[in-house]
Amino acid sequence: MAKTYDLIAIGGGSGGLSAAERAAKYGARTAVVEAGRLGGTCVNLGCVPKKIMWYGASIAHTLEDAAAYGFALKREGFDWGRLVAERNRYVANINNWYHTYLADSNIDEINGFARFVDNHTLEVDGERYQAEHIVIAPGSSPVVPEIEGAELGITSDGFFGLAQQPRRVAVVGSGYIAVELAGMLNAVGCEVTMFLRGEHLLRRFDDMLRESLMEEMLNDGVNIISSSRIERVARADDGTLDLYCNGSGQLQGGFDQLIWAIGRRPASAGLALENTEIVRDSAGYIDVDAFQNTAVSGVYALGDVTNAPQLTPVAIAAARRLSDRLFGGMAERRLDYSLVPSVVFSHPPIATVGLTENEARASHGEAVKVYQTRFTPMYHAFTERQSKVAMKLVCVGAQEKIVGCHIIGFGADEMLQGFAVAIRMGATKRDFDDTIAIHPTAAEELVTMR
Ligand code: NDP
Repeated sequence: MAKTYDLIAIGGGSGGLSAAERAAKYGARTAVVEAGRLGGTCVNLGCVPKKIMWYGASIAHTLEDAAAYGFALKREGFDWGRLVAERNRYVANINNWYHTYLADSNIDEINGFARFVDNHTLEVDGERYQAEHIVIAPGSSPVVPEIEGAELGITSDGFFGLAQQPRRVAVVGSGYIAVELAGMLNAVGCEVTMFLRGEHLLRRFDDMLRESLMEEMLNDGVNIISSSRIERVARADDGTLDLYCNGSGQLQGGFDQLIWAIGRRPASAGLALENTEIVRDSAGYIDVDAFQNTAVSGVYALGDVTNAPQLTPVAIAAARRLSDRLFGGMAERRLDYSLVPSVVFSHPPIATVGLTENEARASHGEAVKVYQTRFTPMYHAFTERQSKVAMKLVCVGAQEKIVGCHIIGFGADEMLQGFAVAIRMGATKRDFDDTIAIHPTAAEELVTMR
C-alpha cells in the first residue's frame, strides 16, 4: 500500500523545500523527496558557493586597490585550497541544518529518485507514495554540448569540485555562469579566455550593461574571443586541452581546464512523466498555467523545471504562493513573473530589473525616455585599477513610469533590491527625483539623473 501525504515535493532544493515548509506551517502532512544533498543547486552547486568565491575574488581586487589607500601590503599568494575548504565547510553546515530543520518542522525526508507510476502515485526505491498535492521541483542541470571531446571539459558542477586552482582556463558561453566564473577566476590570478559563439556577453541584457561589462572584463585582462564555435576538444601530449574552433579559424590550446557554461536543462527526464498526462515542451520544460498547475489536477511544477527565470528566489516565491493557495485559503495567490530583479555576480556586478531599452522601444515606441549616466565612483578616484559605474532608467509615457532599471559597477548588487520595490509599486521618475539622495554614494545617482 502506498504511504500518503497531503503534499509531496519532488526535489529538496529551493522550490521543493519552500513548498513543503509553507504547507507544513499550515499543518499539512508533507514530505520532500531528494536523491542528493538538501538545498539543491543553490546551496550546493550554485548561488551559495559561487558567492563565497565572488567574495574571495572581490578581496583580490581590494588588495590591489589597497596601496592607493596607503596600505603597504606584501601579497604572499592565494590559497585556493583554503578558500575551497572554508566554502565546503560552510555549505556542509547548511546541509546539516536542513536535516534538523525538516525534522523540527515535521517534514519527512524521502531519500532517492522519485518516478511517477501514474498521475498520482510516486515510487522511490521501490516504495510507493501518494499525495493529494504533488509538487515537481527537481531543478535543472548544466548542458554539455554534443561534440567530440566535450567530456574533457567540466561544468559549473565540476568547477565546485576543483581542489586545485587552474592555471589557464577556457570558459565557453556568454550567460550568467560564464561571466561569473570567468570574472572570479581572472581576479584570483588564472589566465582566462572566454569563447562566445555570438558577439556579445549577456545577449538578453540591456546594451549598456553588456557593453560596459565587455569593456570592464577586457580591461581586467580576460581574453574574449567572439564568433567562435568550438567544434572539437582534444587532449594534447602535455595533458592540456586543445579547442578546435571555427569562426576564429584557429586552434586555441594549452588550457588546463575547460568550463562549459552554455545553459541549463530542466531535470524532467528521469521522472517517468510518460506514465502520466503531464505535458512537457520539446526542451523538457513542464507546461504549467499561471497557478503552477500542470495538465494533471493536483500535480504542480515550479522552478527551473518550468520555463520560468532560473532563479532561486523565483522558485521560492512560486512555491510559497502555491502552498498559500493550496493550504492557506488564498485562492488567487500566485507568483507574478513580471519585474523579476536579478544580479549577475560578475566583476563588476550587474543588477537589473524590468525592460531593456530595446524591449521598451519595441513595445512603447516614442513614449520611451531614457536617463543614463556613467562615472568613476569615488572609491576609484585615485586607485590604479579603474572600474566605472553605469546606470540606466527606462521610463514610459507622460508620467515617466519607470519600467526598467539597469546598473553595473561597484555596489550594484546591493543597490537594486530597494529600487525594485519602488519600481514594482509603479514609481515614476518624479518619485525618484523627489527622493532625497544619500551622499556620498554611487546609488544616489539613481535619484539625481537629468
Ligand atoms: P544562460 O542562459 O545565462 O546563458 C547561456 C548562454 O550561452 C546562452 O544565452 C547562449 O548565448 C550561450 N550558448 C548556448 N549554447 C551555446 C553553445 N553551444 N556554445 C556557445 N555558447 C552557447 O545560462 P547559464 O548556464 O549561464 O546559466 C543558467 C541559468 O542559471 C541562468 O539563465 C540564470 O537564470 C541562472 N543563474 C543565475 C545566476 C544569478 O542569479 N546570479 C548565476 C548563475 C546562473 P548566445 O546565444 O548569446 O550565444
